[in-house]
Parts: sequence; structure tokens; C-alpha cells
Amino acid sequence: MTIASKYHYTTETRLAGVEFTTFSTVLRHRTTNQTVEQVKSSDTHLLLRARQGFVRFADHQKGVKITLFATRPERLQMLRDGLIDTLANAMPGMTESLRWTDTSETGTPPPNLHFATVCHVTPLGPAFLRIRVKADDLSSFQNDAIHFRFVLPPAGLQDVEWPYVGENGATVWPQGDKALHRPVYTTRWIDHDAGLMDFDVFLHDGGRVTDWAKAIRIGETVAFMGPGGGGIPQTDKIIALADETAFPAIARIAESLPAHSTGQLVLMAAGGIDCGYPIVVPDGVKLTWIDPEDRMALAEIAIAASAAEPDHYLWFAAEKAAAQQVREGYKTRGGNPQNAYIAGYWLSS
Ligand SMILES: Cc1cc2nc3c(=O)[nH]c(=O)nc-3n(C[C@H](O)[C@H](O)[C@H](O)COP(=O)(O)OP(=O)(O)OC[C@H]3O[C@@H](n4cnc5c(N)ncnc54)[C@H](O)[C@@H]3O)c2cc1C
Repeated sequence: MTIASKYHYTTETRLAGVEFTTFSTVLRHRTTNQTVEQVKSSDTHLLLRARQGFVRFADHQKGVKITLFATRPERLQMLRDGLIDTLANAMPGMTESLRWTDTSETGTPPPNLHFATVCHVTPLGPAFLRIRVKADDLSSFQNDAIHFRFVLPPAGLQDVEWPYVGENGATVWPQGDKALHRPVYTTRWIDHDAGLMDFDVFLHDGGRVTDWAKAIRIGETVAFMGPGGGGIPQTDKIIALADETAFPAIARIAESLPAHSTGQLVLMAAGGIDCGYPIVVPDGVKLTWIDPEDRMALAEIAIAASAAEPDHYLWFAAEKAAAQQVREGYKTRGGNPQNAYIAGYWLSS
């Protein structure tokens, strides 16, 4: 089976004047992380698999031919945005002249930009609001990519500008006073047939999304980019730890676990279980709530628990410094990166 037989959306471009071997070395160095896997490599070809699809590089007429493969147009655009971002950092000045075979996209909104209408807002305890939106097409939102970027214009701005696809294929975002706030959120529930989606906002001091959510009007239009980010791990042995920002993700994971699953969930929230956020776990998975007084305690529990049960999938998401501590602890004990998801969900200022 070829890639193109399943990944029907493809596009191609050529980087002129770049020597393949140098290019390939730079790129492989830049993409050694959990989300990009090197599938094949030779003197003339490099094939990478990213969350959104495949990227193939080939030595071609004193340059590099780049081909992208994805299952959907939204994912093709995300793959291209990710690639151009990586190239722009690795080889400044090289990406402006890129031109792709799917030039019809230029100047139009990127296919992963969605508009939706707010239909319901439901408080979940004192610290969360559940927001239900209706959109025309949510078919690209599946279990392998459960996040999206909420796209919020500055409060009070009248002539809002939305992103569009630039001549080099990358998404162009408005700048300065018109810059859009783009925090990541999680799809908590989705009904593809009805075009409905729920996401849960943790209300915290100083949050722009918090301010927006508290003043929300039914019927209001919202914008979001997606899907993106990680998916639901396929496992029946799990150690998962989260603070409030990751409750929507962990709730989705917990309800997807097979009934015979074992392991533990440790959740950190003010008021513990009284925070009012609903989470259901299989009988064999222990659920513990801890106080947020000591944010780093969550990281220490994660490191100890995963060392005690190394065959369990480790899922951790909380404040960035805590995630970094877990990442280092996991690496130090030689944990398998394929058996863990460790992410910083917000940055303490
Ligand atoms: C993959 C992923 C999925 C996520 N899913 C969700 C989700 O489903 N629901 C959700 O509520 N959040 C989620 N988050 C976290 C969310 O993106 C951040 O909290 C983000 O900063 C919120 O934006 P804001 O506009 O509210 O705050 P900003 O305007 O970005 O920040 C304003 C201030 O708030 C502080 N701040 C940000 N987050 C917190 C916090 N949790 N507690 C205390 N202070 C904070 C910042 O340090 C800053 O000082 C997710 C993050 C990631 C990476």
C-alpha cells in the first residue's frame, strides 16, 4: 500500500538551491521529538510521519522536492504550517519563495479555521463553564486529535481580521492591535451528525477566555482552528495526572478506557472532588483528588507512580514547570517515550 492510497490530500513544492544531505541533517536534528517519527532515510530521500500526516523530501534537480500527504484538507494545512514553521527556524529566509501545487488556497481562510454559534452555557461547579457550539462540519475532529485553538479577537475590536493562506502556503495571522489570542482547548464531547461540540473553560484570574466566557451571549459566533494536538491513548493500563486545565482531556480519556482497565488518576483542584467537575473511571482505576497548594506535588507523584508501574502508560498535563519536572524524571529513569504523554498546558506568570 502506498501512502497516497490512504492519504488522499497531497501537495508539492520545491526548495531550490539547497543541498539534500545538508537539508536532511538539519531537518532530522530539528524534528527529534515525540510527535515526529522518521520512517525512512537514505542519501536521496527522507520520509517523516507527523500527527497530521506524512512529509516526504527528495533530492531533486539541485534542490529538495517536498510532498505532503494527509487524510483531510484541514490536516494538510496544519502539516504545511508546522513544516514551514520548522523550516523558517532552521533556515531563515528560505520559506518565503515556496510555492505549492494547490495554489487555489492562496488568499482564502485556511481549511482548519471553523466558525460556530454558541448554543448553551452550563456551569460545572464554581470553576468551570461548559460551552456548547454548533458548526457546519466537525468531521475532522476525531479521537486522534482532541484539541483545538480557540481564536479570540481583542475585546471591543470592530473590524476583526481573520487568518488567510499566504502565497508561500503558510497561514498568515493578523498582527499588532488586531492580533488574535489563540489558546489551546479540548473537545470534551462531539456529535458529528448534529455538528455540536462541547468544550469546558476553567475559570481563572486574568484569563482572556475566562472574561469572554463569563460575558458570553447565546447565538454569538466563535472561531477556532483545529483539530490538533494529541489523541486518546490506546491502553488499558494508565497512570494519569492532571490539573484543572486538563480535566476535559482526562475525562475523555477515562471514558474511553476499556472496562477492565487498571491504574490510577490523580486530579488536582481547589476543593478536590467538590470542584464539581464530573469524571467517571472504570472500577479498576483508582481516583484521587489532591489540593493545589503545592503544584509540584503532582509532578512528584507522577514520577514515583510511573516508576512503580513502568508498564503503565503515563499521561501528565498541568503547569509547564511541573510537566518539565516529570519529563526529566521520566527520562532519567529510562521511561519509553512512546508510552507517555507529558505536556505543559499553561504557563504560570
Ligand atoms: C493541549 C491543551 C489543552 C487544553 N485544554 C484546556 C481545556 O479544555 N480547558 C481549559 O480551561 N484550559 C485548557 N488548556 C489550558 C489553556 O490553554 C490555558 O490555561 C490558557 O492560558 C488559557 O487562556 P486564557 O485566555 O484563559 O489565559 P491567558 O490570557 O493566556 O493568560 C492570562 C493569565 O492567566 C494565567 N493562567 C493561564 N492558565 C491558568 C490556569 N490554569 N490557572 C491559573 N492561571 C492561569 C497566565 O499565567 C496569565 O498570567 C489547554 C492547554 C493545552 C496546551
